Amino acid sequence: MTAVRSADAKPATMGEFLASGRPSFSFEFFPPRTPEGERHLWTALRRIEALRPSFVSVTYGAGGSTREGTIRVTERIATDTTLTPIAHLTAVNHSVAELRQVIGNYAGAGVRNVIALRGDPPGDPQGTWTAHPQGLKHADELVRLVKSVGDFCVGVAAFPDKHPRSPDFDTDARYLVRKFDAGADYAITQFFFGADDYFRLVDRVRALGCDKPIIPGIMPVTNVAQIVRMAQLSGADFPPVLAARLQAVADDPAAVRAVGLEVATELSRRLLDGGAPGLHFITLNRSSVTQEIFEAVR
Ligand code: FAD
Repeated sequence: MTAVRSADAKPATMGEFLASGRPSFSFEFFPPRTPEGERHLWTALRRIEALRPSFVSVTYGAGGSTREGTIRVTERIATDTTLTPIAHLTAVNHSVAELRQVIGNYAGAGVRNVIALRGDPPGDPQGTWTAHPQGLKHADELVRLVKSVGDFCVGVAAFPDKHPRSPDFDTDARYLVRKFDAGADYAITQFFFGADDYFRLVDRVRALGCDKPIIPGIMPVTNVAQIVRMAQLSGADFPPVLAARLQAVADDPAAVRAVGLEVATELSRRLLDGGAPGLHFITLNRSSVTQEIFEAVR
């Protein structure tokens, strides 16, 4: 286990970190469901810890099954590692009273960074969203709630390819700005493949008078079937040229990994060169590919 740094040495919040002008590099993990998954997670986290990233984030389970896990893993990161955790939180199936309780648990664990999300409808992520009868309809309401409960730095989701349920790009950008107006300090994007899609989103938000940081989410392709499924669910455009390159080597996992690494590294470089305030790597609880990209671009 890496020696624990004093709490003062950790970056406190994403907002303060970005205000310092340094690019933020964060890594996203999900709470595991099995003892084997738990071992994978901690192996990956310890490897990432050695690279001294700015933050690590822990997702919030869609259907409720991993919610305890999010609190447990986030708390352990805060207390047992030198890493600063960001806890995701969704409004799915929660009353406002329950959300307050979870936010209170985060505060009690010393967590000061929260990503406030609406979440997807449980069961069918592409189905119709129905809010809990005593709950919240949209992420902007959750931003306000988190801010009202404690001294949190709050991130929100952004979508370079627009949210799959948004009618058009301009409406999507207006709702993102509404989340910033509700108090969000920064946004992290859904994963995407085209740097220009990210820059167009930033331009749309700036044109609406908002200058809050928007951090690109990066997910390298390591498994063709998995990424196609995830892109369909998230609404990300999967470029045909990349699909063809991957299909050509689909039977060779090492070659798929090499293509995924090359493409994501090139995307990351373009984003940072174009002024992105940092990168958020989606690890799927495996550290090696995102670690290589980070080491290549930082
Ligand atoms: P919202 O901002 O509420 O948007 C949802 C839809 O409603 C959009 O079409 C939007 O344009 C529209 N909308 C927004 N505000 C309003 C409004 N005030 N009035 C009318 N329409 C509005 N999911 C999980 O389950 N767990 C996670 O941990 C998780 N982490 C994520 C992290 C990131 C960085 C990202 C990008 C996504 C994450 N998701 C996670 C997925 C996310 O929950 C889904 O994409 C969800 O469908 C949208 O969440 P949101 O917070 O953007 O919702």
